[in-house]
Amino acid sequence: MRMADLATDSNKMICPRCGVEMNHHCDKIVYTTDPEEAGRDPSLGGFIEEIHTCPKCGVAASRHGIE
Ligand SMILES: [Zn+2]
Repeated sequence: MRMADLATDSNKMICPRCGVEMNHHCDKIVYTTDPEEAGRDPSLGGFIEEIHTCPKCGVAASRHGIE
């Protein structure tokens, strides 16, 4: 577990459908060979994609991590 996971998450995604705070479900690594890809981490060979789900309507959304 990263330290960031222990802190209060003040950077929650907002559900585009119902406007409530979404739960940070998981992270996954998206591999890319494009060096211009935003957020790409050379040590990982890709970038972190955060998966968020809405506790109210269940919609899932993702965004690039900002690590
Ligand atoms: Zn929702």
